[in-house]
Amino acid sequence: MTQDAKVALVTGGCRGIGLAATEIFLEQGWRVAVVDRDTDELHRVCDAMDNVLPVEADVSNPQAVDGMIRETVARFGRVDALVNNAGVALFSRANRTSFEDWREVMAVNLDGVFLCTQAAIPELAKTRGAIVNIASISGLRASTLRVAYGTSKAAVIHLTKQFAAELGEQGIRVNCVAPGPVRTKLAMAVHAPEIIAAYYDAIPLNRYGEAREIAEAIVFLCSDKASFISGQTLAVDGGFEATGVGLP
Ligand code: NAD
Repeated sequence: MTQDAKVALVTGGCRGIGLAATEIFLEQGWRVAVVDRDTDELHRVCDAMDNVLPVEADVSNPQAVDGMIRETVARFGRVDALVNNAGVALFSRANRTSFEDWREVMAVNLDGVFLCTQAAIPELAKTRGAIVNIASISGLRASTLRVAYGTSKAAVIHLTKQFAAELGEQGIRVNCVAPGPVRTKLAMAVHAPEIIAAYYDAIPLNRYGEAREIAEAIVFLCSDKASFISGQTLAVDGGFEATGVGLP
C-alpha cells in the first residue's frame, strides 16, 4: 500500500456500523485508523486486518482526541476522512433520566463529535477531506424514552450544518448519516421487544437495517463521488422518516 492511499479515521470503528465502514474503506483501498475505547475488542479486530492502525481513545477526552490525530498522522501521514461514529444509547423517560446519564450521553455523542472534528481540521484542510457524522432517526423525529439520546443526535445534525458552513472555505465537506435501527450491541441493549415490533410496523421496508447498508452511505459521502454534497443529513432508514408512524 502506497503513501498515496487515502486514510479514514473511524471512531467506534471496531464494532457494529463503524466496523462495517472500516471494512468497506479497506475494500476500496483506503487505510483506516480504527479508534475505540474498548481496547480488547479494538486489538482483537485490528489484529485480523491489514492497513489498519488501532488507536485507543475515548472521544469525549480532549487529550486523547489530540493523541488520536497525532498517532494517525505519525503512522499514515495524512487524514482524508473523519467518521464520527462512536456513540452510546440510553433509553429512559425524562423523569427517570439522571443528570449523570444525560451528561454521559452528551459527552460521547455530542462533545465527542465536536472534539474530534476540531482536532482533525488542520489535517483535513491539507487533503480537502470529508467528515461524516453519525446521528440517528431519533435525532430527526421525537419519541418517548429518547430525551437524552434523541437530543444529542438532533444536535449532531445541526453541528453538521455549522461545521459545513465554516469548513467549506477550506475545501472540507461535512455530512451526516441518520441510521434507522440496526441489530448492533448498542441497539439490542435498549430495544425492548415492543420497540422492535413497533419499528417493524413503522418502517415501510418492514425490517431492521444491516450495518453494511449504513456503512455504504458513510463511505459514499466520504468519497469524491460526493464532491458537491455538504451540510446534508441522509436518513438510511427503510423509509421510516418519510412516514410519520409513531413509536412507543
Ligand atoms: P456499537 O455499540 O456496535 O458500536 C459503537 C462503538 O463505539 C463501540 O465499539 C464502542 O466501544 C465505541 N465507543 C462508545 N463510546 C466511545 C467513546 N467514548 N470513545 C471511543 N469509542 C467509543 O454501536 P452501533 O450501533 O454500531 O453505533 C454506531 C453509531 O450509530 C452510534 O453513534 C449510534 O448512536 C448510531 N446509531 C445506531 C443505530 C442502531 O440501531 N444500531 C441507529 C441509529 C444510530
